[in-house]
Amino acid sequence: MKVCTTVQEMRKVRAAFGTVGFVPTMGFLHEGHLSLVRKAKAENDAVIVSLFVNPIQFGSPDDLANYPRAIEQDKALLAREGVDMVFIPEVSELYPSGFATSVEVKDVALKMEGASRPGHFAGVATVLTKFFNIIAPQKAYFGQKDAQQCAVIKRFVQDLDISVEIKTMPTWREEDGLAYSSRNARLTAAERAKAPALYKALCVAQTLVHGGERSRAVLEAAMKQVLLEAGLSEIDYATIVNPETFEPEEQITGNALALLAVHLGAVRLIDNLPLLP
Ligand code: AMP
Repeated sequence: MKVCTTVQEMRKVRAAFGTVGFVPTMGFLHEGHLSLVRKAKAENDAVIVSLFVNPIQFGSPDDLANYPRAIEQDKALLAREGVDMVFIPEVSELYPSGFATSVEVKDVALKMEGASRPGHFAGVATVLTKFFNIIAPQKAYFGQKDAQQCAVIKRFVQDLDISVEIKTMPTWREEDGLAYSSRNARLTAAERAKAPALYKALCVAQTLVHGGERSRAVLEAAMKQVLLEAGLSEIDYATIVNPETFEPEEQITGNALALLAVHLGAVRLIDNLPLLP
Protein backbone atom coordinates (compact mmCIF):
# COMPACT_ATOMS: atom_id res chain seq x y z
CA MET A 1 0.00 0.00 0.00
CA LYS A 2 1.38 3.38 -1.02
CA VAL A 3 1.10 6.35 1.31
CA CYS A 4 1.08 9.74 -0.29
CA THR A 5 1.02 13.19 1.31
CA THR A 6 1.26 15.68 -1.57
CA VAL A 7 -1.13 16.60 -4.37
CA GLN A 8 1.59 16.28 -7.00
CA GLU A 9 2.58 12.76 -5.93
CA MET A 10 -1.06 11.74 -5.62
CA ARG A 11 -1.80 12.79 -9.21
CA LYS A 12 1.28 10.96 -10.47
CA VAL A 13 0.55 7.68 -8.72
CA ARG A 14 -3.15 7.79 -9.59
CA ALA A 15 -2.31 8.03 -13.30
CA ALA A 16 -0.92 4.50 -13.11
CA PHE A 17 -4.23 3.05 -11.87
CA GLY A 18 -7.18 2.04 -14.03
CA THR A 19 -10.62 2.66 -12.52
CA VAL A 20 -10.44 4.10 -9.03
CA GLY A 21 -12.90 3.82 -6.15
CA PHE A 22 -12.36 6.61 -3.66
CA VAL A 23 -13.33 6.55 0.03
CA PRO A 24 -12.87 9.91 1.75
CA THR A 25 -12.61 9.68 5.56
CA MET A 26 -11.44 11.69 8.54
CA GLY A 27 -9.70 8.62 9.93
CA PHE A 28 -10.07 6.82 13.27
CA LEU A 29 -11.50 4.05 11.15
CA HIS A 30 -14.27 1.67 12.19
CA GLU A 31 -16.37 -1.05 10.56
CA GLY A 32 -18.57 1.55 8.81
CA HIS A 33 -15.56 3.00 6.99
CA LEU A 34 -14.25 -0.48 6.18
CA SER A 35 -17.58 -1.48 4.65
CA LEU A 36 -17.12 1.37 2.15
CA VAL A 37 -13.54 0.26 1.45
CA ARG A 38 -14.66 -3.33 0.80
CA LYS A 39 -17.36 -2.21 -1.62
CA ALA A 40 -14.87 0.05 -3.43
CA LYS A 41 -12.43 -2.83 -3.62
CA ALA A 42 -15.05 -5.08 -5.19
CA GLU A 43 -16.09 -2.55 -7.83
CA ASN A 44 -12.84 -0.92 -9.07
CA ASP A 45 -9.31 -1.70 -10.26
CA ALA A 46 -7.84 0.28 -7.37
CA VAL A 47 -8.98 1.83 -4.09
CA ILE A 48 -7.77 5.15 -2.74
CA VAL A 49 -8.68 6.22 0.81
CA SER A 50 -8.06 9.68 2.21
CA LEU A 51 -7.38 10.30 5.91
CA PHE A 52 -7.87 14.01 6.46
CA VAL A 53 -9.52 15.83 9.35
CA ASN A 54 -10.82 18.72 7.30
CA PRO A 55 -10.61 21.86 9.47
CA ILE A 56 -12.95 23.96 7.33
CA GLN A 57 -15.93 21.70 7.99
CA PHE A 58 -15.71 22.13 11.78
CA GLY A 59 -17.61 25.00 13.39
CA SER A 60 -16.12 24.59 16.84
CA PRO A 61 -12.35 24.68 17.50
CA ASP A 62 -12.89 22.29 20.43
CA ASP A 63 -14.64 19.74 18.22
CA LEU A 64 -11.73 19.92 15.75
CA ALA A 65 -9.05 19.69 18.45
CA ASN A 66 -10.79 16.75 20.15
CA TYR A 67 -11.55 14.80 16.97
CA PRO A 68 -9.95 11.37 17.52
CA ARG A 69 -6.91 10.47 15.42
CA ALA A 70 -5.00 7.19 15.00
CA ILE A 71 -3.06 7.37 11.74
CA GLU A 72 -0.79 4.34 12.28
CA GLN A 73 -3.69 2.11 13.30
CA ASP A 74 -5.72 3.37 10.30
CA LYS A 75 -2.87 2.60 7.90
CA ALA A 76 -2.57 -0.93 9.27
CA LEU A 77 -6.33 -1.52 8.87
CA LEU A 78 -6.30 -0.22 5.29
CA ALA A 79 -3.25 -2.29 4.34
CA ARG A 80 -5.06 -5.37 5.63
CA GLU A 81 -8.06 -4.53 3.40
CA GLY A 82 -5.81 -4.41 0.33
CA VAL A 83 -6.15 -0.67 -0.24
CA ASP A 84 -3.82 0.53 -3.01
CA MET A 85 -3.17 4.06 -1.87
CA VAL A 86 -3.75 6.21 1.19
CA PHE A 87 -3.75 9.99 0.81
CA ILE A 88 -2.79 11.80 4.04
CA PRO A 89 -2.21 15.45 3.18
CA GLU A 90 -1.23 18.12 5.71
CA VAL A 91 -3.72 20.97 6.16
CA SER A 92 -1.21 23.34 4.49
CA GLU A 93 -1.02 21.04 1.45
CA LEU A 94 -4.74 21.39 0.73
CA TYR A 95 -5.17 24.94 2.04
CA PRO A 96 -1.93 26.82 1.34
CA SER A 97 -1.73 30.46 2.25
CA GLY A 98 -3.87 32.52 -0.11
CA PHE A 99 -6.52 29.82 -0.43
CA ALA A 100 -9.77 31.75 -0.99
CA THR A 101 -12.39 29.48 -2.56
CA SER A 102 -15.50 27.84 -1.14
CA VAL A 103 -18.06 25.56 -2.74
CA GLU A 104 -21.38 26.73 -1.30
CA VAL A 105 -24.44 24.55 -1.84
CA LYS A 106 -27.87 26.11 -1.27
CA ASP A 107 -31.29 24.53 -0.59
CA VAL A 108 -30.62 21.00 0.74
CA ALA A 109 -27.37 22.16 2.40
CA LEU A 110 -29.13 24.86 4.42
CA LYS A 111 -31.59 22.57 6.23
CA MET A 112 -31.11 20.44 9.40
CA GLU A 113 -27.32 19.83 9.75
CA GLY A 114 -26.71 22.88 7.57
CA ALA A 115 -28.80 25.04 9.92
CA SER A 116 -27.27 23.52 13.08
CA ARG A 117 -23.70 23.71 11.76
CA PRO A 118 -23.36 26.78 9.50
CA GLY A 119 -20.50 26.39 7.04
CA HIS A 120 -20.21 22.65 7.59
CA PHE A 121 -21.43 21.56 4.17
CA ALA A 122 -19.40 24.25 2.39
CA GLY A 123 -16.34 22.76 4.08
CA VAL A 124 -17.34 19.26 2.98
CA ALA A 125 -18.16 20.32 -0.59
CA THR A 126 -14.92 22.31 -0.92
CA VAL A 127 -12.62 19.53 0.24
CA LEU A 128 -14.44 16.91 -1.84
CA THR A 129 -14.26 19.08 -4.95
CA LYS A 130 -10.50 19.24 -4.41
CA PHE A 131 -10.25 15.47 -3.83
CA PHE A 132 -12.34 14.72 -6.93
CA ASN A 133 -10.09 17.01 -9.00
CA ILE A 134 -6.87 15.54 -7.61
CA ILE A 135 -7.85 11.86 -7.65
CA ALA A 136 -10.37 11.75 -10.52
CA PRO A 137 -12.10 8.62 -9.20
CA GLN A 138 -14.73 6.81 -11.27
CA LYS A 139 -16.75 6.12 -8.10
CA ALA A 140 -16.78 7.60 -4.60
CA TYR A 141 -18.31 5.86 -1.57
CA PHE A 142 -20.25 7.48 1.27
CA GLY A 143 -22.33 6.24 4.21
CA GLN A 144 -26.09 6.58 4.59
CA LYS A 145 -25.26 7.43 8.21
CA ASP A 146 -24.54 10.94 6.90
CA ALA A 147 -27.65 11.00 4.71
CA GLN A 148 -27.79 14.74 4.24
CA GLN A 149 -24.11 14.83 3.35
CA CYS A 150 -24.86 12.30 0.58
CA ALA A 151 -27.69 14.50 -0.73
CA VAL A 152 -25.45 17.59 -0.70
CA ILE A 153 -22.64 15.74 -2.50
CA LYS A 154 -24.98 14.42 -5.20
CA ARG A 155 -26.26 17.98 -5.67
CA PHE A 156 -22.91 19.71 -6.20
CA VAL A 157 -21.46 16.86 -8.27
CA GLN A 158 -24.40 17.21 -10.63
CA ASP A 159 -24.39 21.02 -10.56
CA LEU A 160 -20.64 21.29 -11.21
CA ASP A 161 -20.55 18.49 -13.83
CA ILE A 162 -18.01 16.50 -11.88
CA SER A 163 -17.45 13.14 -13.50
CA VAL A 164 -17.81 10.76 -10.55
CA GLU A 165 -20.50 8.29 -9.53
CA ILE A 166 -21.63 8.81 -5.94
CA LYS A 167 -22.45 5.55 -4.14
CA THR A 168 -24.35 5.55 -0.85
CA MET A 169 -23.79 2.53 1.40
CA PRO A 170 -25.91 1.30 4.34
CA THR A 171 -25.19 2.37 7.92
CA TRP A 172 -23.16 -0.13 9.95
CA ARG A 173 -24.19 -0.50 13.57
CA GLU A 174 -22.88 -2.03 16.75
CA GLU A 175 -24.89 -4.95 18.17
CA ASP A 176 -26.96 -2.63 20.34
CA GLY A 177 -27.90 -0.51 17.32
CA LEU A 178 -25.55 2.42 17.85
CA ALA A 179 -24.21 3.53 14.46
CA TYR A 180 -20.42 3.27 14.25
CA SER A 181 -18.89 6.74 14.44
CA SER A 182 -15.38 7.96 15.17
CA ARG A 183 -16.99 10.25 17.74
CA ASN A 184 -18.30 7.26 19.77
CA ALA A 185 -14.77 6.91 21.17
CA ARG A 186 -15.27 10.18 23.02
CA LEU A 187 -18.38 9.00 24.91
CA THR A 188 -18.01 8.27 28.62
CA ALA A 189 -19.19 4.83 29.80
CA ALA A 190 -22.44 6.37 31.06
CA GLU A 191 -23.04 8.21 27.78
CA ARG A 192 -22.22 5.08 25.76
CA ALA A 193 -24.83 3.19 27.77
CA LYS A 194 -27.50 5.74 26.80
CA ALA A 195 -26.45 6.09 23.16
CA PRO A 196 -28.43 3.12 21.71
CA ALA A 197 -31.57 5.19 22.41
CA LEU A 198 -30.87 7.09 19.18
CA TYR A 199 -31.44 3.99 17.06
CA LYS A 200 -34.29 2.87 19.32
CA ALA A 201 -36.05 6.21 18.72
CA LEU A 202 -35.64 5.83 14.95
CA CYS A 203 -36.98 2.27 15.10
CA VAL A 204 -40.03 3.40 17.10
CA ALA A 205 -40.81 5.92 14.35
CA GLN A 206 -40.35 3.24 11.69
CA THR A 207 -42.63 0.81 13.53
CA LEU A 208 -45.32 3.49 13.88
CA VAL A 209 -45.11 4.26 10.15
CA HIS A 210 -45.35 0.58 9.28
CA GLY A 211 -48.47 0.51 11.46
CA GLY A 212 -50.04 3.32 9.42
CA GLU A 213 -49.03 6.48 11.30
CA ARG A 214 -48.28 9.39 8.95
CA SER A 215 -48.21 12.47 11.18
CA ARG A 216 -44.84 14.12 11.77
CA ALA A 217 -46.02 15.56 15.10
CA VAL A 218 -46.92 12.10 16.42
CA LEU A 219 -43.68 10.52 15.17
CA GLU A 220 -41.55 13.35 16.56
CA ALA A 221 -43.21 13.09 19.94
CA ALA A 222 -42.62 9.33 20.01
CA MET A 223 -38.93 9.71 19.12
CA LYS A 224 -38.40 12.43 21.71
CA GLN A 225 -40.09 10.34 24.37
CA VAL A 226 -37.64 7.47 23.78
CA LEU A 227 -34.69 9.86 23.97
CA LEU A 228 -35.95 11.58 27.11
CA GLU A 229 -36.69 8.26 28.82
CA ALA A 230 -33.05 7.28 28.19
CA GLY A 231 -31.89 10.49 29.82
CA LEU A 232 -31.01 12.23 26.55
CA SER A 233 -32.53 15.69 26.82
CA GLU A 234 -30.16 17.74 24.66
CA ILE A 235 -31.97 17.02 21.42
CA ASP A 236 -30.86 19.22 18.55
CA TYR A 237 -33.55 17.77 16.32
CA ALA A 238 -35.55 14.55 16.01
CA THR A 239 -37.85 14.84 13.05
CA ILE A 240 -39.13 13.46 9.75
CA VAL A 241 -37.83 14.88 6.48
CA ASN A 242 -38.07 14.38 2.77
CA PRO A 243 -34.91 12.37 1.92
CA GLU A 244 -34.04 14.56 -1.06
CA THR A 245 -34.81 18.09 0.14
CA PHE A 246 -34.43 17.52 3.90
CA GLU A 247 -37.53 19.66 4.41
CA PRO A 248 -39.63 18.50 7.37
CA GLU A 249 -42.77 16.69 6.20
CA GLU A 250 -46.04 17.38 8.03
CA GLN A 251 -47.59 14.19 6.68
CA ILE A 252 -45.59 11.37 5.17
CA THR A 253 -46.69 10.79 1.61
CA GLY A 254 -43.82 8.99 -0.14
CA ASN A 255 -40.27 8.26 0.99
CA ALA A 256 -39.39 9.79 4.32
CA LEU A 257 -36.42 9.75 6.65
CA ALA A 258 -36.43 9.84 10.44
CA LEU A 259 -33.48 12.02 11.35
CA LEU A 260 -31.94 13.04 14.63
CA ALA A 261 -29.03 14.86 16.21
CA VAL A 262 -28.45 14.58 19.95
CA HIS A 263 -25.80 15.89 22.32
CA LEU A 264 -24.37 13.43 24.84
CA GLY A 265 -22.12 15.58 27.00
CA ALA A 266 -19.39 16.97 24.74
CA VAL A 267 -20.28 14.68 21.83
CA ARG A 268 -22.94 15.32 19.20
CA LEU A 269 -24.25 12.22 17.44
CA ILE A 270 -26.43 12.00 14.33
CA ASP A 271 -28.37 9.07 12.88
CA ASN A 272 -31.25 8.39 10.51
CA LEU A 273 -33.50 5.63 9.23
CA PRO A 274 -35.60 5.42 6.05
CA LEU A 275 -39.23 4.94 7.12
CA LEU A 276 -40.75 3.28 4.09
CA PRO A 277 -39.12 0.60 1.97
P1 AMP B 1 -16.02 10.31 8.46
O1 AMP B 1 -14.66 9.74 8.71
O2 AMP B 1 -16.87 10.40 9.69
O3 AMP B 1 -15.99 11.58 7.65
O4 AMP B 1 -16.77 9.25 7.54
C1 AMP B 1 -16.25 8.85 6.31
C2 AMP B 1 -17.31 8.10 5.54
O5 AMP B 1 -17.72 6.96 6.28
C3 AMP B 1 -18.57 8.96 5.30
O6 AMP B 1 -19.04 8.71 3.98
C4 AMP B 1 -19.52 8.42 6.33
O7 AMP B 1 -20.89 8.57 5.96
C5 AMP B 1 -19.14 6.95 6.37
N1 AMP B 1 -19.58 6.35 7.62
C6 AMP B 1 -19.40 6.85 8.87
N2 AMP B 1 -19.99 6.05 9.78
C7 AMP B 1 -20.57 5.04 9.09
C8 AMP B 1 -21.34 3.90 9.46
N3 AMP B 1 -21.63 3.63 10.73
N4 AMP B 1 -21.77 3.07 8.47
C9 AMP B 1 -21.46 3.32 7.18
N5 AMP B 1 -20.74 4.38 6.76
C10 AMP B 1 -20.29 5.23 7.70
